Amino acid sequence: MAKRDYYEVLGIAKGADESEIKKAYRKLAKKYHPDANPDNKEAEEKFKEISEAYEILSDSEKRAAYDQYGHAAFEQGGMGGAGGFGGMDMGDIFGSFGGFGDIFGDIFGGGSSRRRNGPVNGRDIQVGLTISFEEAVFGCSKDVTINVTDTCDECHGSGAKAGTSAQTCTRCGGSGQERVVNRTPLGNIQTVRTCSACGGSGKIIKDKCTKCHGSGKVNIQKTVKVDIPKGINHGQSIRKSGMGEAGSNGGHHGDLYIEIRVMPHKQFVRNGNDILLDVPITMTQAALGANITIPTLEGDEIYSVRAGTQPESKVTLRNKGVFYVRNPKDRGNMILTFKVTIPTKLTEHQKELLREFDDPDSANKKGGLFKKKK
Ligand SMILES: [Zn+2]
Ligand SMILES: [Zn+2]
Repeated sequence: MAKRDYYEVLGIAKGADESEIKKAYRKLAKKYHPDANPDNKEAEEKFKEISEAYEILSDSEKRAAYDQYGHAAFEQGGMGGAGGFGGMDMGDIFGSFGGFGDIFGDIFGGGSSRRRNGPVNGRDIQVGLTISFEEAVFGCSKDVTINVTDTCDECHGSGAKAGTSAQTCTRCGGSGQERVVNRTPLGNIQTVRTCSACGGSGKIIKDKCTKCHGSGKVNIQKTVKVDIPKGINHGQSIRKSGMGEAGSNGGHHGDLYIEIRVMPHKQFVRNGNDILLDVPITMTQAALGANITIPTLEGDEIYSVRAGTQPESKVTLRNKGVFYVRNPKDRGNMILTFKVTIPTKLTEHQKELLREFDDPDSANKKGGLFKKKK
């Protein structure tokens, strides 16, 4: 699916200023926020889309890159470290954690100001996953085991013993808050505090669930299958939506973020989507040219070194690099750097041949800076 233009997503003009962007985002974010649209997939997608557009357009550097290159600016190999977003089947790939947290905090004041007995979404979980260089290049499927707080399957989160249900707290009438009047020399002062009977949940559980002891949640170990797309790079994250901590009072599950760590390869060095390889060749191979075997991502290949190859010179082998996560048909290049080795152990005969090759007469003609022993 083609990505929509960020300006179009926010319904603003290309030249919109910061406050217009913010205003448009606030309006749309409120409309499509998951809290306002429970279980509405379409609204959730919409919310992601506008959040992404805002993330880019509210940052002057990212916005400039977007204006110049469009969505390509945030694909791998584009702006370094800017990361990508959204749109993948197996969950989203993020360049870094926590892009949305700031925006939520800005607009909704975080979760802390919500009423304690209202729906509270579960927290996101972040885990690291180490994979080999090859697994990152070609993609793989991994099982990740996480310890997570999940809804109790015995009471389905109610906290009440099977066959019973939680009662609305009579002290606070279910609001979770109670009014207290303090008599002071200045008169009666009324304050509102968390209900002392139900602890703010608005519910009283007479017979507690034996499995979760009334909390409605249990700590479990969960194994999640993660499909890692080919071309993923060290530090990128995969999001598994709804695999995080369980929410409370009907809130959604948080997400699980798997941060990928790629082990180094013993020969290849990855630079974005390019593969860098040092190729040692002998002095003679450099001078005369030679067919040598080099490792590539697809296995060993014969490469013809040109006669007269200079030390540290580079050759680019097109389309022999790493696949792009977003366009798996495209791939980077392989860049060879020739490391010419000078022999340290020579037989007398070899030394003689080299002296002959070095032609002392021509050296003398150039000014005789050094005298050669014959
Ligand atoms: Zn339970
Ligand atoms: Zn209460």
